[in-house]
Amino acid sequence: MTKSEVVTRLQEGNARFVADKLDGNLQDAGRREVLTAGQQPFAIVLSCADSRVVPELAFDTGLGEIFTVRVAGNVANSSTIASIEYAVAHCGSEVIVVMGHQSCGAVTAAVAGGDNGYNINHLLSHITPAISACEAGTEINDIVKKNATMVRDELVSRSAIIGDAVKSGKVEVHAAYYNLDSGKVDFL
Ligand SMILES: [Zn+2]
Repeated sequence: MTKSEVVTRLQEGNARFVADKLDGNLQDAGRREVLTAGQQPFAIVLSCADSRVVPELAFDTGLGEIFTVRVAGNVANSSTIASIEYAVAHCGSEVIVVMGHQSCGAVTAAVAGGDNGYNINHLLSHITPAISACEAGTEINDIVKKNATMVRDELVSRSAIIGDAVKSGKVEVHAAYYNLDSGKVDFL
């Protein structure tokens, strides 16, 4: 698939999800057997860990189709960047989607501030730049979108592997927003 065909495939799968018409393909024993030889996921998705946001369902994908990296707030940290680098360098994935979502708890917590302990404080610090880039009082869901677009750009600027792949035209990176209520993914 070309990169634009991959994006179309994701959008069509999402339309099936929204319509409650998942095809559920490529999730059986035959597919598992094929995949023992290796993986060639057509896309990489960086999403939040939120239980309500499940990329494989939202895009109606089967086993081995998308390489999903999940962390609260879908932030670009060393581990998420490294995971994406692996898929770009070794799995041949050419489309990356950074997907924020409606009412993200991580973004809400980052906006609220305060001391949440070392680990959560560290995680939320990755969202601070998006908050700073928005005017005071900006709605949470708009900060979520800003965070997704800034993380999209960070993947390119903070990773030589991803950055070079984007510059050479091999890989493209998109930001997206998942609506909790409808299940629709808006590409930003
Ligand atoms: Zn979230």
